Amino acid sequence: MSPTESNLPEAATLLTVRGLRKAFGRHEVLKSIDMDVRRGEVVTLIGPSGSGKTTVLRCLNGLEVPDGGIVEFANDLTVDFSLPVPKKQLSSMRDRSAMVFQHYNLFPHKTALENVIEGPVQVQKRPKAEAIEEARELLARVGLADKEGSYPFELSGGQQQRVGIVRALALRPQLLLFDEPTSALDPELVGDVLTVIKELADEGWTMVVVTHELAFAREVADEVIFMADGVVVERGHPDTVLRDPREERTRQFVDRLL
Ligand code: ADP
Repeated sequence: MSPTESNLPEAATLLTVRGLRKAFGRHEVLKSIDMDVRRGEVVTLIGPSGSGKTTVLRCLNGLEVPDGGIVEFANDLTVDFSLPVPKKQLSSMRDRSAMVFQHYNLFPHKTALENVIEGPVQVQKRPKAEAIEEARELLARVGLADKEGSYPFELSGGQQQRVGIVRALALRPQLLLFDEPTSALDPELVGDVLTVIKELADEGWTMVVVTHELAFAREVADEVIFMADGVVVERGHPDTVLRDPREERTRQFVDRLL
């Protein structure tokens, strides 16, 4: 379960975002976001509710189409949203990342295994037997070997989210996007899911994580980005942003949560 092989040297930039903008009606939700994510790096997005964190992930994953800005993957795909974007380019961008959702978003009428193989088989057209074998390995890896035949309603929230993570991994993306992956969980289930995410980070997966778990961000993140009202207020190493922020707004936010 190591990240997709690539010829990029270690620490090469995987993702570059410049001037990302998105409005819903007259509400400018993202007002020119810049972001760089290097290969193998964990970037966490923190900030008050409504600051635009989820919208950043959804724009990167093509679930929302930005109004402007540039998204570039490893120098071989540049999408300029200030111009009309060809469908092929958008789908190529979508293929680079996989999202883990706050509310898991599993298909309720499919088993854990069926949820995991859906993308590889239906979308990526990979052979079913191969997809099943890989899905079983991945489920075992997150402690769910005996749950492959279970339906989401038969699983705890933590187990469902681990299926959600495996479903993302099975797509073999270059980039994992986590949207508050533990905020819907009962407190006693948060630890297991965070442990899985930490292990993935240790294995070298590149990820952007929206989270309110600042202790997790401090432990795992290479960079923390603090957003408010659709702009990046402050960014840097977790020791700086979370312990000794430059901006008063960041300080107020982290003081409340830590
Ligand atoms: P965060 O993740 O920081 O809580 P979001 O990105 O979810 O913030 O939302 C930022 C703002 O955009 C919020 O005010 C939210 O209501 C608004 N918003 C998000 N998605 C939509 C949508 N599809 N339509 C209209 N407004 C939206």
